[in-house]
Amino acid sequence: MIKFLDLHKINERFHPEFQLKFQEFLDSGYYILGQGVQTFEEEFAKFCGTTFAIGVGNGLDAITLILKGYVALGKLQEQDEVLVPANTYIASVLAILQAGLKPVFVEPDLETYNISVSDLEQKISSKTKAILAVHLYGQLAEIDAIQNCANQNNLLIIEDAAQAHGAVYHDGRKAGNLGHAAAFSFYPSKNLGALGDGGAVTTNNEELANTIKKLRNYGTTSKYVNELVGCNSRLDEIQALFLSVKLNRLEADNDVRRKIANRYLANIKNNKIILPLYTGLASHVFHLFVVRVAQRDHFMSYTKKHLIETLNHYPVPPHKQEALIDFNHLKLPITEQIHNTIVSLPISPVMESHDVDYLINVLNAY
Ligand SMILES: *Cc1c(COP(=O)(O)O)cnc(C)c1O
Repeated sequence: MIKFLDLHKINERFHPEFQLKFQEFLDSGYYILGQGVQTFEEEFAKFCGTTFAIGVGNGLDAITLILKGYVALGKLQEQDEVLVPANTYIASVLAILQAGLKPVFVEPDLETYNISVSDLEQKISSKTKAILAVHLYGQLAEIDAIQNCANQNNLLIIEDAAQAHGAVYHDGRKAGNLGHAAAFSFYPSKNLGALGDGGAVTTNNEELANTIKKLRNYGTTSKYVNELVGCNSRLDEIQALFLSVKLNRLEADNDVRRKIANRYLANIKNNKIILPLYTGLASHVFHLFVVRVAQRDHFMSYTKKHLIETLNHYPVPPHKQEALIDFNHLKLPITEQIHNTIVSLPISPVMESHDVDYLINVLNAY
């Protein structure tokens, strides 16, 4: 059986280092916002090329805290509109709602699955104040075009980089350093995954960074002094220690993902399977390798019969979910087409070479 993702195998490579870090943690007796979080924040900011990184509880909170931070700073106001790709994971949309803002769904590009800049331009109104640019499946959104659009309309650019740790833009800047602020998730299955929940915000804006540092910890400036209506969303100390270990390996792991993706792209030759568009640059870290197949259910039972586990990211778009009933009436045909046909193939830094070959053969025989 080729598992979709073998998290145990991914993390096993780090077990000896994790054990040392855990002993360090036990010895320190310091459990919340200690040296481990501070060190990881510094390392992650350096990795992304930003001045600041703030560790938070998870990816959803990272997005929410950026938006709430801008609200606290008076840069966003309740009911301001935030443009978001309609085919994203629901967390992007929930964060906008939780910050008291209004999501406006934008169609993706059918080839890259990332936000369509032409539809983006059409959806801008006088209330539009920000773009939540999601780097979906690990591929950077078209930042140059988004930036032009944002400049012309005075919009904030916030990256949802939850799937794109380490992706490099053509000008050398990394995910996390391509807008005004960026949100990361360290959910275990992400390219940089913790052994539990975790997230971070990166930014070069000192005012925003300070505000988010307060918001994540009850709005506190110093002990028992509450300046803002904050929440409790701190990156856990143990997770920060583990993440520091794994960060060292992230670029090598992303290289392996790209190598596997290139093998799929070069060798899967079946006109029933539409491969994703990939420019060949480091701007894609292949968090997921997503193909499109017209007879999706038939294809998935075929791969299952051949002991290959495939998944859908995601089977139902946010605007069709019961939780977002106010948006159920929206018509987003490209998004719906994508959701009806996409299939994610196994890809990971610990996938065996012979399994890649086997998968290619099975798919070519479909
Ligand atoms: C995983 C993910 C999130 C949410 O991260 P959590 O840590 O699970 O809260 C947000 N946006 C995208 C695109 C994601 O893939």
